[in-house]
Amino acid sequence: MAKETRVRFAPSPTGPLHMGGVRTALYNYLYAKKRGGKFILRIEDTDSQRFVPGAEEYIIEALEWCGISPNEGIKEGKIAEIADKENPYAPYRQSQRRGIYRKYAEELVDKGFAYYAFDTSSALDKMRKDAEETGETFTYNHSVRESLDNSLTISKEELSRRLDESDHWVIRFKMPIDKIIKMTDLIRGEIEVNSSTLDDKVLWKAADELPTYHLANVVDDRLMEISDVIRGEEWLPSLPLHYMLYEAFGWSDIRPSFAHLSLLLKPDGKGKLSKRDGDRLGFPVFPLEWRAPGGEISSGYREEGYYPDAFINMLALLGWNPGTQQEIFNLNELTEAFSLERVVKSGAKFNPEKAKWFNQEYLRQRDLLSLAEEFKPFLISKGIDKNDEYISSAVSMIKERASFVKEFWSLSDFLFTAPQSYDTAVKAKFWKESTPAILKEISESLKVMENFDKESIEQKISQLIKENGWQTGSVMNCLRLLLVGESKGPGVADIMSLIGREESISRVERGLE
Ligand code: GLU
Repeated sequence: MAKETRVRFAPSPTGPLHMGGVRTALYNYLYAKKRGGKFILRIEDTDSQRFVPGAEEYIIEALEWCGISPNEGIKEGKIAEIADKENPYAPYRQSQRRGIYRKYAEELVDKGFAYYAFDTSSALDKMRKDAEETGETFTYNHSVRESLDNSLTISKEELSRRLDESDHWVIRFKMPIDKIIKMTDLIRGEIEVNSSTLDDKVLWKAADELPTYHLANVVDDRLMEISDVIRGEEWLPSLPLHYMLYEAFGWSDIRPSFAHLSLLLKPDGKGKLSKRDGDRLGFPVFPLEWRAPGGEISSGYREEGYYPDAFINMLALLGWNPGTQQEIFNLNELTEAFSLERVVKSGAKFNPEKAKWFNQEYLRQRDLLSLAEEFKPFLISKGIDKNDEYISSAVSMIKERASFVKEFWSLSDFLFTAPQSYDTAVKAKFWKESTPAILKEISESLKVMENFDKESIEQKISQLIKENGWQTGSVMNCLRLLLVGESKGPGVADIMSLIGREESISRVERGLE
Protein backbone atom coordinates (compact mmCIF):
# COMPACT_ATOMS: atom_id res chain seq x y z
CA MET A 1 0.00 0.00 0.00
CA ALA A 2 1.28 3.45 -0.86
CA LYS A 3 2.36 5.57 2.05
CA GLU A 4 -0.28 8.07 3.24
CA THR A 5 0.54 11.64 2.26
CA ARG A 6 1.21 13.67 5.38
CA VAL A 7 2.53 17.18 4.94
CA ARG A 8 2.98 19.88 7.52
CA PHE A 9 3.10 23.63 7.72
CA ALA A 10 5.53 24.40 10.52
CA PRO A 11 5.68 28.13 11.20
CA SER A 12 7.54 29.73 14.07
CA PRO A 13 5.29 32.14 15.98
CA THR A 14 7.63 35.10 15.54
CA GLY A 15 5.05 37.47 14.07
CA PRO A 16 2.17 37.54 11.60
CA LEU A 17 2.17 35.18 8.67
CA HIS A 18 3.68 36.83 5.58
CA MET A 19 1.87 36.13 2.30
CA GLY A 20 4.87 33.99 1.30
CA GLY A 21 4.12 31.82 4.33
CA VAL A 22 0.48 31.59 3.30
CA ARG A 23 1.60 30.40 -0.12
CA THR A 24 3.74 27.67 1.50
CA ALA A 25 0.73 26.61 3.56
CA LEU A 26 -1.47 26.68 0.45
CA TYR A 27 0.84 24.46 -1.60
CA ASN A 28 1.01 22.00 1.30
CA TYR A 29 -2.77 22.06 1.54
CA LEU A 30 -3.26 21.48 -2.20
CA TYR A 31 -0.67 18.71 -2.27
CA ALA A 32 -2.31 16.87 0.64
CA LYS A 33 -5.85 17.43 -0.58
CA LYS A 34 -5.12 16.08 -4.02
CA ARG A 35 -3.74 12.87 -2.52
CA GLY A 36 -6.45 12.47 0.08
CA GLY A 37 -3.77 12.98 2.71
CA LYS A 38 -3.31 15.05 5.83
CA PHE A 39 -2.32 18.69 6.12
CA ILE A 40 -0.82 19.22 9.55
CA LEU A 41 -0.07 22.38 11.51
CA ARG A 42 2.91 22.28 13.86
CA ILE A 43 4.11 25.27 15.81
CA GLU A 44 7.90 25.49 15.98
CA ASP A 45 8.42 27.66 19.03
CA THR A 46 11.67 26.35 20.47
CA ASP A 47 13.28 29.78 20.15
CA SER A 48 11.63 31.45 23.12
CA GLN A 49 13.55 34.69 22.47
CA ARG A 50 11.71 35.25 19.22
CA PHE A 51 8.25 34.27 20.44
CA VAL A 52 5.62 36.94 19.78
CA PRO A 53 2.33 36.82 21.69
CA GLY A 54 -0.68 36.48 19.44
CA ALA A 55 1.27 35.13 16.47
CA GLU A 56 0.01 31.56 16.89
CA GLU A 57 -3.64 32.65 17.05
CA TYR A 58 -3.03 34.87 14.05
CA ILE A 59 -1.66 31.95 12.02
CA ILE A 60 -4.67 29.77 12.82
CA GLU A 61 -7.13 32.54 12.00
CA ALA A 62 -5.34 33.44 8.77
CA LEU A 63 -5.41 29.86 7.49
CA GLU A 64 -9.07 29.65 8.40
CA TRP A 65 -9.91 32.88 6.56
CA CYS A 66 -8.09 31.55 3.51
CA GLY A 67 -10.18 28.38 3.66
CA ILE A 68 -7.15 26.14 4.08
CA SER A 69 -7.38 25.08 7.69
CA PRO A 70 -5.22 22.08 8.58
CA ASN A 71 -6.97 18.78 9.25
CA GLU A 72 -4.51 17.77 11.94
CA GLY A 73 -2.83 19.70 14.72
CA ILE A 74 -5.86 21.83 15.57
CA LYS A 75 -8.61 21.14 18.06
CA GLU A 76 -11.54 23.54 18.38
CA GLY A 77 -9.62 26.36 16.76
CA LYS A 78 -6.52 25.94 18.92
CA ILE A 79 -3.31 23.96 18.65
CA ALA A 80 -4.08 20.38 19.71
CA GLU A 81 -2.40 19.57 22.99
CA ILE A 82 -3.84 16.17 23.86
CA ALA A 83 -3.54 13.14 21.61
CA ASP A 84 -6.77 11.65 20.26
CA LYS A 85 -7.97 10.00 17.08
CA GLU A 86 -7.80 13.17 14.95
CA ASN A 87 -4.59 14.41 16.48
CA PRO A 88 -2.59 11.30 17.30
CA TYR A 89 0.75 13.11 17.63
CA ALA A 90 -0.31 15.88 20.00
CA PRO A 91 0.98 18.15 21.31
CA TYR A 92 1.66 19.94 18.04
CA ARG A 93 3.49 22.78 19.73
CA GLN A 94 7.20 22.03 20.08
CA SER A 95 7.65 23.84 23.40
CA GLN A 96 5.23 21.28 24.85
CA ARG A 97 7.24 18.45 23.35
CA ARG A 98 10.51 19.55 24.96
CA GLY A 99 10.90 16.29 26.88
CA ILE A 100 11.11 14.32 23.64
CA TYR A 101 14.22 15.70 22.05
CA ARG A 102 17.05 15.21 24.55
CA LYS A 103 17.21 11.47 24.13
CA TYR A 104 17.55 11.86 20.37
CA ALA A 105 20.46 14.26 20.79
CA GLU A 106 22.10 11.88 23.26
CA GLU A 107 21.52 8.94 20.94
CA LEU A 108 23.61 10.74 18.35
CA VAL A 109 26.38 11.36 20.91
CA ASP A 110 26.35 7.67 21.84
CA LYS A 111 26.61 6.67 18.20
CA GLY A 112 29.49 9.08 17.64
CA PHE A 113 27.54 11.49 15.41
CA ALA A 114 27.48 14.31 17.93
CA TYR A 115 29.43 15.65 20.89
CA TYR A 116 29.16 17.88 23.94
CA ALA A 117 30.61 21.36 23.67
CA PHE A 118 31.36 23.67 26.58
CA ASP A 119 32.66 26.75 24.83
CA THR A 120 31.22 29.83 26.48
CA SER A 121 29.57 32.46 24.36
CA SER A 122 32.29 34.94 25.29
CA ALA A 123 34.99 32.50 24.13
CA LEU A 124 33.13 31.98 20.85
CA ASP A 125 32.67 35.73 20.44
CA LYS A 126 36.37 36.29 20.93
CA MET A 127 37.26 33.69 18.30
CA ARG A 128 34.83 35.36 15.91
CA LYS A 129 36.38 38.74 16.57
CA ASP A 130 39.95 37.48 16.20
CA ALA A 131 39.08 35.82 12.92
CA GLU A 132 37.43 39.00 11.64
CA GLU A 133 40.56 40.98 12.40
CA THR A 134 42.54 38.78 10.03
CA GLY A 135 39.79 39.01 7.43
CA GLU A 136 38.43 35.54 8.06
CA THR A 137 35.24 34.07 9.48
CA PHE A 138 35.20 31.70 12.38
CA THR A 139 33.26 28.49 11.81
CA TYR A 140 32.80 25.75 14.37
CA ASN A 141 33.67 22.88 12.07
CA HIS A 142 35.94 19.87 11.46
CA SER A 143 39.02 22.02 11.06
CA VAL A 144 38.83 23.58 14.53
CA ARG A 145 36.68 21.30 16.65
CA GLU A 146 39.62 19.27 18.00
CA SER A 147 41.17 22.42 19.40
CA LEU A 148 37.99 23.69 21.09
CA ASP A 149 36.40 23.04 24.46
CA ASN A 150 34.35 19.90 23.84
CA SER A 151 34.00 16.21 24.63
CA LEU A 152 36.12 15.17 21.65
CA THR A 153 39.30 16.02 23.53
CA ILE A 154 38.61 15.19 27.18
CA SER A 155 38.43 11.98 29.20
CA LYS A 156 35.20 10.21 30.10
CA GLU A 157 35.64 11.12 33.75
CA GLU A 158 36.19 14.73 33.04
CA LEU A 159 33.19 14.76 30.75
CA SER A 160 30.79 13.42 33.36
CA ARG A 161 32.20 15.81 35.94
CA ARG A 162 31.65 18.78 33.67
CA LEU A 163 28.18 17.71 32.60
CA ASP A 164 27.19 17.49 36.28
CA GLU A 165 28.90 20.69 37.20
CA SER A 166 26.92 23.13 35.09
CA ASP A 167 24.34 23.40 32.38
CA HIS A 168 26.45 25.61 30.14
CA TRP A 169 26.88 23.05 27.45
CA VAL A 170 25.32 22.10 24.13
CA ILE A 171 25.26 19.08 21.87
CA ARG A 172 26.72 19.69 18.42
CA PHE A 173 26.43 17.58 15.30
CA LYS A 174 29.78 16.16 14.21
CA MET A 175 29.65 16.88 10.52
CA PRO A 176 31.61 14.22 8.60
CA ILE A 177 34.66 15.29 6.64
CA ASP A 178 34.73 15.32 2.85
CA LYS A 179 31.53 13.43 2.27
CA ILE A 180 29.49 14.19 -0.82
CA ILE A 181 25.92 14.61 0.36
CA LYS A 182 23.54 13.82 -2.50
CA MET A 183 20.08 15.25 -2.16
CA THR A 184 16.93 15.40 -4.25
CA ASP A 185 14.59 18.34 -4.33
CA LEU A 186 11.26 17.85 -6.11
CA ILE A 187 11.52 21.31 -7.65
CA ARG A 188 15.26 21.78 -8.09
CA GLY A 189 16.34 18.24 -8.96
CA GLU A 190 19.62 16.70 -7.75
CA ILE A 191 21.83 18.71 -5.42
CA GLU A 192 25.29 17.85 -4.08
CA VAL A 193 27.19 19.41 -1.22
CA ASN A 194 30.55 18.51 0.26
CA SER A 195 30.10 18.05 4.00
CA SER A 196 33.42 19.78 4.70
CA THR A 197 31.81 23.09 3.77
CA LEU A 198 29.31 22.72 6.62
CA ASP A 199 29.62 23.58 10.29
CA ASP A 200 28.87 21.59 13.43
CA LYS A 201 25.41 22.92 14.22
CA VAL A 202 24.06 23.00 17.76
CA LEU A 203 21.26 20.44 18.20
CA TRP A 204 20.37 20.77 21.87
CA LYS A 205 21.08 23.27 24.63
CA ALA A 206 21.31 22.31 28.30
CA ALA A 207 20.78 25.89 29.43
CA ASP A 208 17.11 25.93 28.43
CA GLU A 209 16.76 22.18 27.85
CA LEU A 210 15.53 22.85 24.36
CA PRO A 211 16.45 21.55 20.93
CA THR A 212 17.35 23.89 18.11
CA TYR A 213 15.21 24.12 15.00
CA HIS A 214 17.17 21.44 13.15
CA LEU A 215 16.85 18.67 15.69
CA ALA A 216 13.25 19.39 16.62
CA ASN A 217 12.23 19.71 12.98
CA VAL A 218 13.80 16.43 11.86
CA VAL A 219 12.69 14.46 14.92
CA ASP A 220 9.12 15.73 14.66
CA ASP A 221 8.90 15.12 10.93
CA ARG A 222 9.90 11.53 11.66
CA LEU A 223 7.66 11.05 14.69
CA MET A 224 4.71 12.61 12.90
CA GLU A 225 5.41 10.43 9.86
CA ILE A 226 5.67 13.34 7.47
CA SER A 227 5.88 12.05 3.89
CA ASP A 228 6.80 15.25 2.07
CA VAL A 229 8.34 18.50 3.25
CA ILE A 230 7.27 21.54 1.25
CA ARG A 231 8.84 24.72 2.62
CA GLY A 232 10.49 27.98 1.71
CA GLU A 233 13.78 28.26 -0.12
CA GLU A 234 15.43 29.81 2.93
CA TRP A 235 15.60 26.29 4.38
CA LEU A 236 17.50 24.81 1.45
CA PRO A 237 20.90 25.46 3.09
CA SER A 238 19.72 23.33 6.04
CA LEU A 239 18.87 20.38 3.83
CA PRO A 240 22.37 18.76 3.90
CA LEU A 241 22.34 18.77 7.70
CA HIS A 242 18.83 17.35 7.72
CA TYR A 243 19.94 14.58 5.36
CA MET A 244 22.88 13.85 7.65
CA LEU A 245 20.58 13.73 10.67
CA TYR A 246 18.26 11.25 8.96
CA GLU A 247 21.28 9.14 8.12
CA ALA A 248 22.72 9.31 11.64
CA PHE A 249 19.41 8.22 13.14
CA GLY A 250 19.22 5.35 10.64
CA TRP A 251 16.10 6.82 9.02
CA SER A 252 17.42 7.41 5.50
CA ASP A 253 15.01 5.00 3.87
CA ILE A 254 11.99 6.59 5.53
CA ARG A 255 13.13 10.15 4.99
CA PRO A 256 10.44 12.47 3.57
CA SER A 257 10.83 13.94 0.11
CA PHE A 258 11.69 17.64 -0.05
CA ALA A 259 10.51 20.59 -2.13
CA HIS A 260 11.84 24.11 -1.56
CA LEU A 261 9.70 26.96 -2.88
CA SER A 262 11.28 30.01 -4.42
CA LEU A 263 10.83 33.43 -2.86
CA LEU A 264 8.12 35.95 -3.52
CA LEU A 265 9.87 38.96 -5.02
CA LYS A 266 9.23 42.69 -4.91
CA PRO A 267 7.15 44.09 -7.82
CA ASP A 268 10.36 45.17 -9.60
CA GLY A 269 11.86 41.71 -9.11
CA LYS A 270 14.77 43.06 -7.07
CA GLY A 271 14.84 41.09 -3.84
CA LYS A 272 12.50 39.48 -1.40
CA LEU A 273 9.03 40.96 -0.93
CA SER A 274 8.98 42.67 2.45
CA LYS A 275 6.55 44.52 4.64
CA ARG A 276 8.38 47.71 3.78
CA ASP A 277 7.55 47.26 0.08
CA GLY A 278 3.91 46.98 1.05
CA ASP A 279 4.06 50.16 3.12
CA ARG A 280 5.92 51.99 0.37
CA LEU A 281 3.74 50.87 -2.54
CA GLY A 282 0.46 50.65 -0.68
CA PHE A 283 -0.49 46.97 -0.58
CA PRO A 284 -0.75 44.50 2.30
CA VAL A 285 1.78 41.70 2.75
CA PHE A 286 -0.23 39.99 5.48
CA PRO A 287 -3.49 38.08 5.05
CA LEU A 288 -5.11 39.74 8.08
CA GLU A 289 -4.50 43.01 9.79
CA TRP A 290 -1.77 42.64 12.42
CA ARG A 291 -1.54 44.65 15.61
CA ALA A 292 1.98 44.26 16.89
CA PRO A 293 2.40 44.05 20.67
CA GLY A 294 4.11 47.47 20.40
CA GLY A 295 0.94 48.97 18.90
CA GLU A 296 1.94 49.27 15.23
CA ILE A 297 -0.83 48.20 12.85
CA SER A 298 -0.14 46.54 9.49
CA SER A 299 -2.91 46.21 6.95
CA GLY A 300 -4.26 42.86 5.81
CA TYR A 301 -5.91 41.57 2.65
CA ARG A 302 -9.08 40.78 4.59
CA GLU A 303 -9.43 44.31 5.95
CA GLU A 304 -8.58 45.81 2.53
CA GLY A 305 -11.68 44.09 1.19
CA TYR A 306 -10.18 41.15 -0.68
CA TYR A 307 -12.19 37.97 -1.00
CA PRO A 308 -10.25 35.03 0.44
CA ASP A 309 -10.80 32.95 -2.69
CA ALA A 310 -9.41 35.76 -4.86
CA PHE A 311 -6.39 36.11 -2.57
CA ILE A 312 -5.74 32.36 -2.63
CA ASN A 313 -6.19 32.18 -6.40
CA MET A 314 -3.69 35.01 -6.87
CA LEU A 315 -1.18 33.44 -4.48
CA ALA A 316 -1.42 30.01 -6.08
CA LEU A 317 -0.29 31.47 -9.39
CA LEU A 318 2.73 33.17 -7.85
CA GLY A 319 5.26 30.48 -8.57
CA TRP A 320 3.02 27.81 -10.03
CA ASN A 321 1.32 27.68 -13.41
CA PRO A 322 -1.30 25.27 -14.68
CA GLY A 323 0.34 25.00 -18.12
CA THR A 324 -2.74 26.60 -19.73
CA GLN A 325 -4.07 30.14 -20.08
CA GLN A 326 -6.62 29.64 -17.32
CA GLU A 327 -6.23 32.11 -14.47
CA ILE A 328 -9.40 31.83 -12.42
CA PHE A 329 -9.43 28.76 -10.19
CA ASN A 330 -11.50 28.08 -7.12
CA LEU A 331 -9.95 25.99 -4.36
CA ASN A 332 -11.30 22.72 -5.76
CA GLU A 333 -10.02 23.51 -9.21
CA LEU A 334 -6.64 24.44 -7.76
CA THR A 335 -6.54 21.14 -5.91
CA GLU A 336 -7.25 19.30 -9.15
CA ALA A 337 -4.70 21.20 -11.20
CA PHE A 338 -1.85 21.64 -8.72
CA SER A 339 1.41 19.75 -9.01
CA LEU A 340 4.89 20.42 -7.67
CA GLU A 341 6.29 19.66 -11.12
CA ARG A 342 4.80 22.92 -12.34
CA VAL A 343 6.21 25.02 -9.51
CA VAL A 344 8.96 27.24 -10.88
CA LYS A 345 12.53 27.40 -9.60
CA SER A 346 12.91 31.13 -10.05
CA GLY A 347 11.44 33.75 -7.73
CA ALA A 348 7.90 34.95 -8.41
CA LYS A 349 7.38 38.68 -8.83
CA PHE A 350 4.40 40.00 -6.90
CA ASN A 351 2.15 42.33 -8.87
CA PRO A 352 -0.23 44.38 -6.70
CA GLU A 353 -2.31 45.43 -9.71
CA LYS A 354 -2.84 41.80 -10.63
CA ALA A 355 -3.99 41.12 -7.07
CA LYS A 356 -6.69 43.77 -7.52
CA TRP A 357 -7.60 42.30 -10.89
CA PHE A 358 -8.24 38.94 -9.25
CA ASN A 359 -10.51 40.56 -6.71
CA GLN A 360 -12.40 42.36 -9.44
CA GLU A 361 -12.93 39.07 -11.27
CA TYR A 362 -14.32 37.46 -8.13
CA LEU A 363 -16.48 40.49 -7.43
CA ARG A 364 -17.95 40.28 -10.93
CA GLN A 365 -18.81 36.64 -10.41
CA ARG A 366 -20.87 37.39 -7.33
CA ASP A 367 -24.63 37.75 -7.59
CA LEU A 368 -26.25 41.11 -6.98
CA LEU A 369 -27.99 40.10 -3.79
CA SER A 370 -24.73 38.99 -2.13
CA LEU A 371 -23.04 42.21 -3.17
CA ALA A 372 -26.01 44.18 -1.84
CA GLU A 373 -25.64 42.33 1.46
CA GLU A 374 -21.96 43.27 1.60
CA PHE A 375 -22.70 46.89 0.72
CA LYS A 376 -25.48 47.31 3.27
CA PRO A 377 -23.30 47.94 6.34
CA PHE A 378 -21.64 50.89 4.54
CA LEU A 379 -25.07 52.31 3.74
CA ILE A 380 -26.38 51.79 7.23
CA SER A 381 -23.33 53.56 8.62
CA LYS A 382 -24.39 56.56 6.47
CA GLY A 383 -27.92 56.39 7.83
CA ILE A 384 -29.35 55.11 4.54
CA ASP A 385 -32.19 52.64 4.70
CA LYS A 386 -33.03 51.06 1.35
CA ASN A 387 -34.43 47.64 0.57
CA ASP A 388 -32.44 44.81 -1.04
CA GLU A 389 -34.07 45.31 -4.41
CA TYR A 390 -33.07 48.96 -4.53
CA ILE A 391 -29.49 48.26 -3.41
CA SER A 392 -29.17 45.38 -5.90
CA SER A 393 -30.27 47.67 -8.74
CA ALA A 394 -27.79 50.30 -7.65
CA VAL A 395 -25.03 47.67 -7.49
CA SER A 396 -25.92 46.37 -10.94
CA MET A 397 -25.19 49.81 -12.39
CA ILE A 398 -21.70 50.16 -10.91
CA LYS A 399 -20.28 46.74 -10.16
CA GLU A 400 -18.35 46.51 -13.42
CA ARG A 401 -16.33 49.53 -12.39
CA ALA A 402 -15.37 48.31 -8.92
CA SER A 403 -12.59 46.02 -7.71
CA PHE A 404 -13.80 46.11 -4.10
CA VAL A 405 -17.12 46.56 -2.35
CA LYS A 406 -15.56 49.45 -0.44
CA GLU A 407 -15.47 51.37 -3.76
CA PHE A 408 -19.23 51.06 -4.22
CA TRP A 409 -20.09 54.13 -2.19
CA SER A 410 -17.99 56.58 -4.16
CA LEU A 411 -19.30 55.07 -7.39
CA SER A 412 -22.95 55.20 -6.35
CA ASP A 413 -23.47 57.80 -3.62
CA PHE A 414 -25.76 59.84 -5.93
CA LEU A 415 -28.12 56.87 -6.12
CA PHE A 416 -28.72 57.28 -2.40
CA THR A 417 -28.36 61.00 -1.69
CA ALA A 418 -28.87 64.20 -3.68
CA PRO A 419 -25.73 66.11 -4.66
CA GLN A 420 -24.52 68.70 -2.17
CA SER A 421 -22.51 70.67 -4.71
CA TYR A 422 -22.04 70.92 -8.47
CA ASP A 423 -18.83 70.50 -10.42
CA THR A 424 -17.90 73.95 -11.72
CA ALA A 425 -15.78 72.63 -14.59
CA VAL A 426 -18.72 70.66 -15.98
CA LYS A 427 -20.92 73.70 -15.58
CA ALA A 428 -18.45 75.98 -17.36
CA LYS A 429 -18.24 73.57 -20.26
CA PHE A 430 -21.90 72.70 -20.86
CA TRP A 431 -24.17 75.21 -19.11
CA LYS A 432 -25.67 77.78 -21.49
CA GLU A 433 -28.06 80.65 -21.12
CA SER A 434 -30.86 78.52 -22.48
CA THR A 435 -30.11 75.57 -20.17
CA PRO A 436 -32.42 76.49 -17.25
CA ALA A 437 -35.44 76.82 -19.52
CA ILE A 438 -34.65 73.53 -21.27
CA LEU A 439 -34.23 71.62 -18.04
CA LYS A 440 -37.39 73.14 -16.68
CA GLU A 441 -39.29 71.94 -19.72
CA ILE A 442 -37.83 68.45 -19.38
CA SER A 443 -38.78 68.31 -15.73
CA GLU A 444 -42.35 69.39 -16.52
CA SER A 445 -42.65 66.60 -19.08
CA LEU A 446 -41.29 64.06 -16.65
CA LYS A 447 -43.98 65.03 -14.18
CA VAL A 448 -46.77 64.01 -16.50
CA MET A 449 -45.24 60.92 -18.07
CA GLU A 450 -47.34 57.82 -17.60
CA ASN A 451 -44.63 55.25 -16.89
CA PHE A 452 -41.44 56.32 -15.22
CA ASP A 453 -39.20 53.49 -16.40
CA LYS A 454 -35.82 53.70 -18.07
CA GLU A 455 -37.08 53.23 -21.66
CA SER A 456 -39.89 55.74 -21.33
CA ILE A 457 -37.54 58.32 -19.81
CA GLU A 458 -34.99 57.82 -22.56
CA GLN A 459 -37.64 58.08 -25.20
CA LYS A 460 -39.19 61.18 -23.73
CA ILE A 461 -35.93 63.07 -23.42
CA SER A 462 -34.67 62.24 -26.87
CA GLN A 463 -38.04 63.13 -28.34
CA LEU A 464 -37.89 66.55 -26.65
CA ILE A 465 -34.32 67.14 -27.83
CA LYS A 466 -35.24 66.24 -31.38
CA GLU A 467 -38.43 68.30 -31.53
CA ASN A 468 -36.77 71.40 -30.13
CA GLY A 469 -33.45 71.07 -31.89
CA TRP A 470 -31.49 71.19 -28.61
CA GLN A 471 -27.85 70.14 -28.37
CA THR A 472 -27.78 66.61 -26.96
CA GLY A 473 -24.34 66.95 -25.32
CA SER A 474 -25.16 70.10 -23.46
CA VAL A 475 -28.61 68.97 -22.33
CA MET A 476 -27.57 65.53 -21.13
CA ASN A 477 -24.47 66.74 -19.31
CA CYS A 478 -26.37 69.48 -17.52
CA LEU A 479 -29.14 67.09 -16.57
CA ARG A 480 -26.55 64.72 -15.17
CA LEU A 481 -24.90 67.59 -13.33
CA LEU A 482 -28.14 68.31 -11.47
CA LEU A 483 -28.78 64.64 -10.70
CA VAL A 484 -25.25 63.61 -9.74
CA GLY A 485 -23.31 66.79 -9.05
CA GLU A 486 -20.55 65.81 -11.47
CA SER A 487 -20.01 63.94 -14.72
CA LYS A 488 -19.74 60.40 -13.32
CA GLY A 489 -22.24 57.56 -13.22
CA PRO A 490 -24.39 55.33 -15.41
CA GLY A 491 -26.94 56.60 -17.95
CA VAL A 492 -29.17 59.48 -16.92
CA ALA A 493 -32.31 57.39 -17.54
CA ASP A 494 -30.89 54.56 -15.40
CA ILE A 495 -30.32 56.96 -12.55
CA MET A 496 -33.73 58.57 -12.81
CA SER A 497 -35.64 55.35 -13.03
CA LEU A 498 -33.94 54.05 -9.89
CA ILE A 499 -34.17 57.15 -7.72
CA GLY A 500 -37.75 57.64 -8.93
CA ARG A 501 -39.83 60.42 -10.37
CA GLU A 502 -40.22 62.54 -7.29
CA GLU A 503 -36.52 62.52 -6.39
CA SER A 504 -35.45 63.13 -10.01
CA ILE A 505 -37.70 66.15 -10.36
CA SER A 506 -36.73 67.52 -6.97
CA ARG A 507 -33.03 67.27 -7.85
CA VAL A 508 -33.56 69.10 -11.15
CA GLU A 509 -35.64 71.80 -9.53
CA ARG A 510 -33.28 72.24 -6.61
CA GLY A 511 -30.38 72.42 -9.03
CA LEU A 512 -32.10 75.09 -11.09
CA GLU A 513 -32.61 77.23 -8.02
N1 GLU B 1 9.93 26.68 11.61
C1 GLU B 1 10.40 26.85 10.27
C2 GLU B 1 9.83 28.18 9.76
O1 GLU B 1 9.57 29.01 10.54
C3 GLU B 1 9.91 25.69 9.42
C4 GLU B 1 10.83 25.28 8.36
C5 GLU B 1 10.40 23.95 7.79
O2 GLU B 1 9.28 23.90 7.26
O3 GLU B 1 11.13 23.00 7.92
O4 GLU B 1 9.63 28.43 8.61
